[in-house]
Amino acid sequence: MYEITRRDLILSSAAAGVVFGLNNRVAFLGVAHAQTAMERGFHRYNVGSIEVTALYDGVWEKAHDPGFIKDVTVDQTKAALAAAGLSTDFVPVPFTPNLVKVGGPFVLIDTGTGGGQTGGPKAGTMMKHLAAAGVEPRAINVILISHFHPDHISGLMTRAPENKVVFPNAEIYVPTVEYRFWTDPAVIEKLAEPRRALARRTQEMFPLMKEKVHQFEWDREVVPGIRAIDARGHTPGHTAFHLSSGTDQLIVLSDTTNIPALFVKNPGWRAAVDQDAPVAEASRRKLLDRAVADKAMVAGYHFPFPAAGRIAKDGNGYAFVAV
Ligand SMILES: [Zn+2]
Repeated sequence: MYEITRRDLILSSAAAGVVFGLNNRVAFLGVAHAQTAMERGFHRYNVGSIEVTALYDGVWEKAHDPGFIKDVTVDQTKAALAAAGLSTDFVPVPFTPNLVKVGGPFVLIDTGTGGGQTGGPKAGTMMKHLAAAGVEPRAINVILISHFHPDHISGLMTRAPENKVVFPNAEIYVPTVEYRFWTDPAVIEKLAEPRRALARRTQEMFPLMKEKVHQFEWDREVVPGIRAIDARGHTPGHTAFHLSSGTDQLIVLSDTTNIPALFVKNPGWRAAVDQDAPVAEASRRKLLDRAVADKAMVAGYHFPFPAAGRIAKDGNGYAFVAV
């Protein structure tokens, strides 16, 4: 963990004081440290005795699109990005899978873009950063999948037609609801055209890994120390994960909210990437409220690297304070 100095903190709202009061063992990462972590491509921190390594998998510089957020204009989106100190030229959507060590095995939560199989030209750096963190792919014993969007599952396998398993010793745990939805042969024609390719790829990949894939239910421990949380809406089986060690907690939000500058600040903004936007919003508010009430740390897959911090109430929305 890093030592902190007051001037390292960039906290713009009253939320800061609230967050500061939560847990004085939290060390905040200053700007200089965040840049160093970004250059290294991984960042290690502890939640009690659980070791978490955030692995940077690059960024999708998403072009502005008036259809991205329902009832929100591109100008409003740009204003929210600017208010958070981000570029307004595009929407920056980073990818950060987490490697977790709870006692023995290495557990990888989501697998990234698969070397840029999806996510644009600046995505696909996770394997390089896994190596930089000193972990070989064969050392990973367990993979947990939050949902079947391509930026979360593409890292399981190399591109077609090679289709080689990337983590040869890993057992793969997937949410039952999500698995059933995407692997139903009838789903393809029910989906809108842009989502069909994903369903086809899912139905190509998973049979090839059949003996390694296990389904899990919500509200149970998937592996010791990690429970699955129902976070449906973004996809039908979208899942968050709860990790705890002693009194310390981490909620891995997965895609419960996309980038915080837009959707933590404005939890009612409904992104086109959420399959069932009203249900996704309900899950988002429920989990952010839980993070506040439980004083839990959160990790967000599309949060700015190292994609971890805390949530506080802030007006009608919430504030994310990076750790
Ligand atoms: Zn995602």
